Parts: sequence; structure tokens; C-alpha cells
Amino acid sequence: MEKILEVKDLHVTFTTYGGTVKAVRGVDFYLNKGETLAIVGESGCGKSVTSNAIMRLIPNPPGRISNGEILFKGKDLTRVSEKKMRSIRGVDISMIFQDPMTALNPTLTIGTQLMEGLRQHKDVTGSQAKEKALEMMDLVGIPNPEERLKQYPHQFSGGMRQRIVIAIALICEPELLIADEPTTALDVTIQAQILELFEKIQNQMGVSIILITHDLGVVAKIADRIAVMYAGKIIEVGTKREIFYDPQHPYTQGLLNSVPRLDLQGEKLTPIEGTPPDLFSPPEGCPFTARCPFAMEVCNKVYPNSSQLTDSHKVDCWLQDERAKQLLAATAAK
Ligand code: SF4
Ligand code: MG
Repeated sequence: MEKILEVKDLHVTFTTYGGTVKAVRGVDFYLNKGETLAIVGESGCGKSVTSNAIMRLIPNPPGRISNGEILFKGKDLTRVSEKKMRSIRGVDISMIFQDPMTALNPTLTIGTQLMEGLRQHKDVTGSQAKEKALEMMDLVGIPNPEERLKQYPHQFSGGMRQRIVIAIALICEPELLIADEPTTALDVTIQAQILELFEKIQNQMGVSIILITHDLGVVAKIADRIAVMYAGKIIEVGTKREIFYDPQHPYTQGLLNSVPRLDLQGEKLTPIEGTPPDLFSPPEGCPFTARCPFAMEVCNKVYPNSSQLTDSHKVDCWLQDERAKQLLAATAAK
């Protein structure tokens, strides 16, 4: 399969008066063409920072990509000029954010906002731009597009506004769409509709999607693969099936136990106790040690190797680490 994006050993830091925050600490992942990868984790785990880094939207200062490569179709985005990046953003890679209201300009009509990017980046006439805008309104499911183009953001509901944001993000036909908590601000029924819309868009346009969310329930429907982030690292990655039915990292298992399940109605959800570590001085070892029911002495001292369980399933946990098995065997032999 063709990889559209490959992130290698990405580190992002933020320098503050209180010290340096190591927000992303050696993240590796890839995205195949036409695939949806969900990046899941609690707030502050580095998932938005990772997606902002791909878009080169880390404010510098205080932020900095301190190490790593972000290969988009083989080109390292950490090394391209800001001018080049401006021609990539919104054209080859688009991003949508949580709050559809702040993403839209309240003083401009929807039509103007839809056509803006197209006219800026593509060589189109006014009527071609309008035609494309109407086509996009139709694709994202907004009725009466002719009339609606002339209206302002406040004349649309929250769900409709998020559809417009998605239409704006897709109008230049990007190859990669990054959606950061795209349904968090919406109520549950609208959330489901927006997720269906993502599926439809992917089928029709073949766009590759990175979906960032704190809610594993959201990804169940549309993700192909899931990467779980904790304290600035991807601690487990696998196909949706592997993560939902065979999670190996205690943190992933904890996350799944805190997702409401239709088949277990009435059973108590068990949230993970405790809080993630301080990223000013993250622990040397496994960052989940303080919250992990299986923590061993080695966990706190040394970060585990990644164990490749299948071609697609990888986990960073001492419970799966060959070195731990050897250590245990050595102790047992004494
Ligand atoms: Fe728990 Fe140790 Fe695995 Fe970390 S490495 S998740 S502390 S068992
Ligand atoms: Mg975020």
C-alpha cells in the first residue's frame, strides 16, 4: 500500500518560564493512501500538537519541532519553506478543528468563504468557483445550496456549520484531511451524521484522514487503524479490530473500559484512576507506571521497546518486551 504520510521520531517542545514542556516525545506512525487513522488519547497527550506539527502550525516561539521527519508523499515538511508550506496548507493537506464557529468568519457569506481558498490557490473563473462551491455544498448535505451560499454563518445550526467547515476544507481536493475533535462540540445525533459524512467523503474523494479524538467511541465507526497516545508518545497502534478486541497496553485497556458499550448496558464504567505525568519532566521509564495495575520495578526506570505483535499491531509495554521475559527468566533461574 502506498504511504501518503510518514512521521518519524517527531519531538515537539514548548519553552515557557517554568521550563521546557516535552509535548511530543518521539512519535512514529504512517498513513496509507485512502485510509483513516484515528489518534486517540486524553487531553494534553500531544495528539493536537502532533497534528499541528504536520501542518507546521506550531507557534515558534514558544514551540519548536526539535527533532524528526514528517514525510508527506516523500517530502519532509519539517524542511520546506514557509512559502511552500502556505501552498500545501488547504490545498494538499487540510485541517478542521473542533469549534465550527471560530473556523468561520461571521462577517462573510458562506459562498465567499467557500470560494476564497479555491480562487487563491487554483486557476478558476468566478463561475467555475461558484459551480464547485455548489457541488461541495451538495456533497456535505446542505439543502438549497444556491440560496444558502448567500447566507452568513449565524444563519446555520452547529451541525450545518461543521458541514460547511468540512466543505471549505475539501474544496481544493486535498489528499490528506486532518480533523481535530471534529464532533466534540456537537450533540450526539449530529456527531453520528458528521461521522457518516466523513465516510461518504472518503468513499467519493479517496481522501486520507487523520482523526484526532479523546473519544474511542467516535472512532469505532470510521477508523481503519487506531494509534493510542499517552504522555507525548504513541503507546499502542493497531487495526481497529486489534485495538478493540485485543488491546495489549494497560492504558488502552483502561480507555476501552471507560467507553460505554451497548452490549453491556447497566455495567459500571471504570475510569482510569490518577493523572498523566508532568511533561516538564516526564519519567525516564514508562509514563503510565504511576497508574498501571501491572507496573513492575523496571517500568519506572527504563522505557520499554516497541514490541511488534503482528504486521499492524505494535505496543510499548514491558509486559510484551522480550527483555523483560529474559530478565524474569534469569531471576527465576537463580
Ligand atoms: Fe504498565 Fe509497565 Fe506496561 Fe507501563 S510498561 S504499561 S507500567 S506494565
Ligand atoms: Mg486537542
